[in-house]
Amino acid sequence: MQEENKPHFETAAIRIQTGQTSFREHSVPLYLTSSFTFEDSEQARAMFADEIGGNIYTRFSNPNTTELIEKLCVLEGTEDGIATASGMAAMFTSMAGLLKAGDHVLASRSLFGSTHQILTQIFPRWGIAHSYADINQPAAWESLIRPETKMIFVETPSNPSLDLIDLEWLGRLAEKHNLILNVDNCFATPYLQQPAKYGAHIVTHSVTKFIDGQGRTIGGAILGRKDLIREIRFFARHTGPSMSPFNAWVLSKSLETLAVRMDRHCENALKLATFLESHPGVEKVIYPFLPSHPQYELARRQMRHGGPLVSFVIEGGQSRAASFIDRLQMVSRTSNLGDTRSIATHPASTTHSKLTDADRASVGIAPGLIRISVGLEYVDDIIGDVRQALGNR
Ligand SMILES: *Cc1c(COP(=O)(O)O)cnc(C)c1O
Repeated sequence: MQEENKPHFETAAIRIQTGQTSFREHSVPLYLTSSFTFEDSEQARAMFADEIGGNIYTRFSNPNTTELIEKLCVLEGTEDGIATASGMAAMFTSMAGLLKAGDHVLASRSLFGSTHQILTQIFPRWGIAHSYADINQPAAWESLIRPETKMIFVETPSNPSLDLIDLEWLGRLAEKHNLILNVDNCFATPYLQQPAKYGAHIVTHSVTKFIDGQGRTIGGAILGRKDLIREIRFFARHTGPSMSPFNAWVLSKSLETLAVRMDRHCENALKLATFLESHPGVEKVIYPFLPSHPQYELARRQMRHGGPLVSFVIEGGQSRAASFIDRLQMVSRTSNLGDTRSIATHPASTTHSKLTDADRASVGIAPGLIRISVGLEYVDDIIGDVRQALGNR
């Protein structure tokens, strides 16, 4: 992945740091300050007029959030960015900052629940329309583009059905129709996939997940082309979805270990997926780097590894899925993902319970579908717990 003059991923994730203070600290300190002082009135004037850079007020910027964003921009290959208080603040702000009444968004149907609520319940109040396209029917996408379409919004791999979108194809479609391509890259992280390389103009994140990686913080990021980020920054500066310096400090340190964590998450995930595929009590296993995945070739082309999430359909439907969840002894029962601890979720009764049966079926959520966010425990212990919870078959 190395290109000329670009720092290696791991090195950038560790060595991009805020400058040292007079204390000569090795680890960057936490800057808990609401505001910053000016040398004189002229400096204050010039900063407010955007003639010179520099921190004014932590709602606008702070050394800790700036460091996080500088790092993420290098890792994603984007020009500029904004740190936000949550992943949803990133999704909302990246759209609301660029769209106006009358605009239309084309989105993939399998979206994170709250992103779906923004498009279907909140944006219509302000006259912003949307259409959903199916990941598995790329030919239909072009026909859904209207004269007033402004943005394409997608997640790949999707949650929890782990369908992929061909980003190279989508980048070309966006370019042909002069649309802003916004990719939620939360499931892959920049270590596995860099959407900007394929023409994404905005890359959004819930950094709560694998970028934190230890289930401590809530945060988000909007990364992308300079002119678009400038517009979004205006919206963010005045509406205030800023990330706290404390979370930025934690998250910047988390990035230092992202590569090694993701390597192990994905190695464990592939081993678990392979085990599940051989288990008679499992109907179907979905994992992008299993040759049985319908988009295996695309996954190999687009992603460094198969990702940290494994989905599978348990034989016997909803009731057996519920007893699987109840029998787990180590793997956590929680709706989050992206932790050192392995997590099992039953989407049909939790994260996707508000959808109708037909809507669930259309995004590939069978009643017996279980999603595992594979953690960093010793892999045989993860497989052992899953095996005993599946019962004797
Ligand atoms: C979790 C998640 C979000 C929302 O992020 P929060 O940090 O919980 O606000 C958005 N998109 C995807 C794909 C997610 O997994």
